[in-house]
Amino acid sequence: MTEKLSVEKRFSDISYNLEVIKSNISSAAKESGRKAEDITLMAVTKTVEPIFINHAIDCGIDLIGENKVQEFLSKEEYLKLDKCKAHLIGHLQTNKVKQIVGKVEMIQSVDSLKLANEISKQCVKQNISCKCLLEVNIGEEESKTGISYDKTMFLLEEILKLEGIKVCGLMTIPPICDSEKELFEYFNKMHDLFIDIKRQNIDNIDMSVLSMGMSGDYKEAILCGSNMVRVGSSIFGPRLY
Ligand SMILES: *Cc1c(COP(=O)(O)O)cnc(C)c1O
Repeated sequence: MTEKLSVEKRFSDISYNLEVIKSNISSAAKESGRKAEDITLMAVTKTVEPIFINHAIDCGIDLIGENKVQEFLSKEEYLKLDKCKAHLIGHLQTNKVKQIVGKVEMIQSVDSLKLANEISKQCVKQNISCKCLLEVNIGEEESKTGISYDKTMFLLEEILKLEGIKVCGLMTIPPICDSEKELFEYFNKMHDLFIDIKRQNIDNIDMSVLSMGMSGDYKEAILCGSNMVRVGSSIFGPRLY
């Protein structure tokens, strides 16, 4: 009985949280001169059990993000993926590429040429193509994965030469900032880079996605031009590892 009740309680929390987040997204979108529909809300589902992910899908979520290949593959068969797409957003090891291409709509965490090469190789083998975002380490933090800001253009040019891989934009996780001003500087720097690449109209790139903003900073990210926010704990509650 308690078990049942707590599931019901979590369901209603998730529904409520989603309403609040959608309304915040809508306000931030308007404030930045756009419409709510211009911003894609991804539900980040790492550590979340399929029953709760499916509830979010029932509430209208049509994009989820998982960090780990193994975790995604173990949940995949239980998820309502006929109504919802999935992206990989966590660091991807080259030896796991084979297992994930073709299973997710997009890999948001392309952070090296070596990884891009392997994605390309596996896509060619399977005769498919894979959408990707380049993950930029905008704070140049040693503890984080992602491409250094200065190397992004070079890497992009190299990746464009590869078959089977379609670059659709950029993703970032900014450093933890002491002030809102500092946070805005990182987000603006990412947006400038995104616009810069977009303006070059490079063949074979569709610069359409700027994925930035998480539970703690999605409103700020939208104000700086993000069009995809990745929200986990504000939807599902704190993660229990
Ligand atoms: C976990 C994670 C998120 C979501 O984080 P929250 O703070 O729980 O919203 C977003 N992006 C990536 C890459 C993540 O790993």
